[in-house]
Amino acid sequence: SDFIVGLTGGIGSGKSAAAARFTEHGIAAIDADVAAREVVEPGQPALAAIAERFGPDVLLANGELNRAKLREIIFNNAEHKTWLESLLHPLIRQRIADFLQAATSPYALLVSPLLVESNQKEMVDNVVVVDVPEAIQLERTMARDGNTEQLVRNIMAAQATREQRSAAANFVIDNSADLASLYLQVDDIHRQLLLLAEA
Ligand code: ATP
Repeated sequence: SDFIVGLTGGIGSGKSAAAARFTEHGIAAIDADVAAREVVEPGQPALAAIAERFGPDVLLANGELNRAKLREIIFNNAEHKTWLESLLHPLIRQRIADFLQAATSPYALLVSPLLVESNQKEMVDNVVVVDVPEAIQLERTMARDGNTEQLVRNIMAAQATREQRSAAANFVIDNSADLASLYLQVDDIHRQLLLLAEA
């Protein structure tokens, strides 16, 4: 696709739910979190490089990445963290770019929690933000993941604020009501994006 739309929002805001509705309209979508996992799947060069640098402990018995171990290694070690990010970020970016380029829908969607915070915003022509009050964000995320309030609050604190996201938005979806309301808003924005993509 020549026209790329970023779909972002904080943890548990409803990005996946919104993306599913865009997909129903035939819009190709890639999730940045999924792309980030794919580049370290067994057989990928990045996983071999990680095992080479940090030793076999960073792999599980089945050959997959031991994420908990890797988190522990880079936690409080800025040099390791920088090394890992320099390895993975270009690979993730390339994977996303390849997908978006190959997509044949009228526009293509990049779903990413950190679109505003990262250089991923440079990859998109338009930004759609899914917005919910923090209380709803907390409640839905805790219900979905079974995490403690403190853990979710820590993740929220490391992400952009609602104000920062909204400032970068071309379209804002209010996902504080039910899914029917979310879908109506997605349908309306989809129609507008089709016009923008044609122009
Ligand atoms: P993450 O960044 O953590 O991947 P997300 O932004 O993709 O989250 P979703 O997983 O789409 O968020 O939504 C969070 C949770 O809230 C899910 O369990 C989802 O089913 C639910 N949810 C989303 N929108 C609504 C809504 N309008 N009404 C009720 N529940 C909703």
